[in-house]
Amino acid sequence: MNLLIKNVLLPENDAIVNKDICITDGIIVSIGKQSDDFVADEVIDGNNRLAMPAFVNAHTHAYMSVLRNAADDLPFMQWLFEGVMPREEKLNNEQAYWGSLLACAEMIKRGCGTFCDMHLFPGASAKAAIKSGMKAVVSRGLTGSDGGQRRLDEQFAEIEEFKGYKNIKFMLAPHAIYTCDKEFLLKCSSEAKRLGLGLNIHLSESKAEFEDCMRDNGCTPTEYVASLGLFENKTLAAHCVQLTDHDIELLAKYGVSVASNPKSNLKLGNGIAPIYQLDKAGVNVCIGTDSAASNNSLNMFAELNYMTLLHKGTNYDSTAIPAKKALDFATVNGARALGFDNLGKLEVGYTADIALLDTNVPQMVPLRNYYAAICYCCDGSETDTLILDGKVVMKNKQLLTIDEEELYYNVNKIVEETDK
Ligand SMILES: [Zn+2]
Repeated sequence: MNLLIKNVLLPENDAIVNKDICITDGIIVSIGKQSDDFVADEVIDGNNRLAMPAFVNAHTHAYMSVLRNAADDLPFMQWLFEGVMPREEKLNNEQAYWGSLLACAEMIKRGCGTFCDMHLFPGASAKAAIKSGMKAVVSRGLTGSDGGQRRLDEQFAEIEEFKGYKNIKFMLAPHAIYTCDKEFLLKCSSEAKRLGLGLNIHLSESKAEFEDCMRDNGCTPTEYVASLGLFENKTLAAHCVQLTDHDIELLAKYGVSVASNPKSNLKLGNGIAPIYQLDKAGVNVCIGTDSAASNNSLNMFAELNYMTLLHKGTNYDSTAIPAKKALDFATVNGARALGFDNLGKLEVGYTADIALLDTNVPQMVPLRNYYAAICYCCDGSETDTLILDGKVVMKNKQLLTIDEEELYYNVNKIVEETDK
């Protein structure tokens, strides 16, 4: 199957030029001028369209899209225990599937092709990813206070169920140090080693988590996790807001990837992660949205904007986290953290996960700078077409893999049932 994106805008040195992107069986085979021997089965007109690698959302909880706007402007514990959890407890797997599909629809409409999901409902997000055409790393959120083994068993069954799907990968996800005791963290670590899987964990998200760990263990959450040997596994740590200089050294030393969620951290009043310092130390930084219960949207363009501006402002340095670097965080760094090879760049040999942005809108005129346009001008509504594995999943802003009417009907029905 040959797909041609004709005459699309791409960066070249400091300029933006029109090129053809030729794709065969989901892989980019040439970028430049279409060669005479490339016969396209399908052609997409790239005129007035800018091509960028599809985003990789490195941290979310897709099913929670059904909880959007359910609890806002509340103290963290009230948000969690009164707003989120009572509704969550009423959800079943089928409802979590529709929530996850809603997340996929929103992510596709905002140029995202891959997500890393921590869930409570086995199969829901994997099925939604497969239905939508997205790639996903899927983890059952594991807690070790009670029933830890049951949840691990659910995870093992889910891995077995989806092992034939190349676009569905797994990590083990001990939820956090405050929901897993030491023995269970060690167990997750040894099970991950046994299965050859990475770990996905919430780490040092809030001041309370940091202070409680200092009180109980005499060290920071990052030092605690390092001391237990968890970082000997390939690890993706979400948030990492509260870090000491030593924590940053440890994350760099062990090659831990950090998924920063700037909007969620701000909205929950948790602060700002030291991303400038992490990046300087050589840590693989990627970007996530977190869930729609805390964000309240899954828009990677907004995260990019916050990511660049927050760290310029808080470091009093307008050169901190330039646009091109932030885009790498949101694409190729995420792909690396999630274990997808050859993903997150528009280069020959890479997977054809490509978003096309409409440049015929006021905020994109004049275009001038490719990276500045994406990071500082776009709000995400410019996303016109999304191609994943060389297949068009959205064209002219119309989803081709998801029936939106059916989706909204089901989500609204779930809200009626669970808000009672
Ligand atoms: Zn999270």
